[in-house]
Amino acid sequence: MTDEPQLALHGDIALVTGASRGIGRAIALELARQGADVGVNYSASADAAAAVAAEIRDLGRKAVVVQADISDAEAVTAMTKTVNAELGPPTILVNNAGITRDMLAMRMKSDDWQAVVGTNLTGSFLASQSVLRGMLRARKGRIITIGSVIGTVGNAGQANYAAAKAGLAGMTRSLAHELGSRGITVNLVAPGFIQTDITADLSDDVIGAVMQRIPLERLGDPADVAPLVAFLAGPGGAYITGQVIHVDGGMVMA
Ligand code: NAP
Repeated sequence: MTDEPQLALHGDIALVTGASRGIGRAIALELARQGADVGVNYSASADAAAAVAAEIRDLGRKAVVVQADISDAEAVTAMTKTVNAELGPPTILVNNAGITRDMLAMRMKSDDWQAVVGTNLTGSFLASQSVLRGMLRARKGRIITIGSVIGTVGNAGQANYAAAKAGLAGMTRSLAHELGSRGITVNLVAPGFIQTDITADLSDDVIGAVMQRIPLERLGDPADVAPLVAFLAGPGGAYITGQVIHVDGGMVMA
């Protein structure tokens, strides 16, 4: 009898927020490829989320689709409860869901500030809090949040987004301090310019200007981000915590 080599994330249960499209979708599929069962969260795109779950099941893993607006505390509690019941308590949380509402500060509406901070920052905190009981009990957990290079360097028209993403770096370091002794690592993956729906509407001028700042001379793809997240979630990430890791073709070197 030959023993099959075990996949890196065999036995893990992952919850990925905003897994219906873009970077979150790529992460959910990569985690499944590496052996994890996956909770696929989405906000509005039910069909896209169902398609991701179907792909995960085709890989031989379990998947559950959970609708929740992650800026809503009650919805987040319900989301994690469903994953706990259907798959078991998550050992991996990927805080990926995020939005932009760009506007110069002079004209930025309070709603645009609140929506971006509520989803990107508060939502990531609420989702982290919701999985902690299970991780603390298991004395094992990986919390990986998707930040942005904009949180490191800022950007005109993105005060809300930059504030939220910079806030996630502070949250990550604080949680890493708080949870290290309990076997839980917490890291922030900060992508540069990745081609998804979020970046689809930018003008050629903006894209041209961004390209000038990328030493690797190409825009990123969700497949450039997902392997790092899977690495941090797996055995290779065991001694990495409290870090902000840029995946950006060299755009920001900090
Ligand atoms: P995307 O293609 O627009 O996908 C966003 C995902 O987030 C979707 O699955 C969406 O769900 C979900 N979502 C949005 N609001 C939500 C909410 N309130 N509750 C639950 N889910 C919600 O964006 P992306 O480019 O993949 O971005 C993913 C993450 O990477 C974000 O945090 C973003 O800030 C970050 N990031 C992206 C780039 C880039 O260049 N693309 C660069 C740096 C960082 P629905 O499909 O249901 O709407």
